Amino acid sequence: MALREQLLAVAAELRRRKAEGEKTISIGDDTLAELRRVVESHRGGAIAEGGLRTADLPAAFAPSAPARPFAEPPAAVPEAKTEARIEKPENRSPKLETRTSGASMPESKIENPKSAISPPAFELPAGDKSTRWNWLRDFVINHSVCQAHVRPGKKVVLGVGSVDARIFFCGEAPGAEEEIQGEPFVGAAGQLLTKMIKGMGLERSQVYIGNIMNWRPEIATPAGLEQTGNRPPTAEEMAFCLPFLKAQLAIVQPAVIVALGATAAAGLLGAGTFKALGEIRGRWHAFAGVPLMVTYHPSYLLRDQSIRKKRIVWEDLLQVMEKANLPINDKQRGYFLEK
Ligand code: URA
Repeated sequence: MALREQLLAVAAELRRRKAEGEKTISIGDDTLAELRRVVESHRGGAIAEGGLRTADLPAAFAPSAPARPFAEPPAAVPEAKTEARIEKPENRSPKLETRTSGASMPESKIENPKSAISPPAFELPAGDKSTRWNWLRDFVINHSVCQAHVRPGKKVVLGVGSVDARIFFCGEAPGAEEEIQGEPFVGAAGQLLTKMIKGMGLERSQVYIGNIMNWRPEIATPAGLEQTGNRPPTAEEMAFCLPFLKAQLAIVQPAVIVALGATAAAGLLGAGTFKALGEIRGRWHAFAGVPLMVTYHPSYLLRDQSIRKKRIVWEDLLQVMEKANLPINDKQRGYFLEK
């Protein structure tokens, strides 16, 4: 089972990257040799452990796929000022109704993530924004389904930032760092997002940052080992967490939502509404009555560090700044313009 799950996760990740416009990926020699071995040993037939055929794998999986080395990290964008924020919540002691004691996720959840998760119905309590947000934090973090999907020692992740933010960034799902710290966007992509926010003349604490998903989507991993890769969430997982995102939006009432990447866009606009992110980015959409801008995910910018791609994302963010009535100076207008 683990092999099939892992291959499906790789295939899903490659499809997501393709939707974001990536044409090539970089694979290390060891990984490529291992993939070759797996694919060759199952060529033409169903993989014994699960039924994934080599034909299911994206073309980039083929041993002849071109490899492209990663470039240098992106240049920092400028700094700016501060404002009060809601502190990152400490995860509370979990309810363990559906949790297992081993380090690996139970097979049944991996096989059928739908089984446990029809979207929760709940109402936010009356009160001011902080009261409602604190209630929501406790509700989400202690929710038995969320808790059932995090490994022992890892955290469910709700959004962070200002409940009065005018800009609400929405990413995909926590990764390794985020599930350790219990805060969205604190790994490499998060550091880049923080620089992008500073480039807009804001601090991270002045915006709100959330995700479509509140836990790190699991990949079956042998007991005692850490999960290594990430996979995009399934439609069912996103549908389960969507009420939590809507509740955060209802509390914050931002002027603008920014969907970061194809998965966030699919979760907010519907998976069938676009084929490639390039079709829908840079234009205004709406979610829950709030103007929604779609742009590339910071992790995509970490993989494609061309000035052209940075400028494309920056132009999307300039539109966001205009919509949120943020001041924009000439220097900001000129970021990432090729000389
Ligand atoms: N990528 C996301 O989409 N969300 C995070 O929280 C971290 C990385």
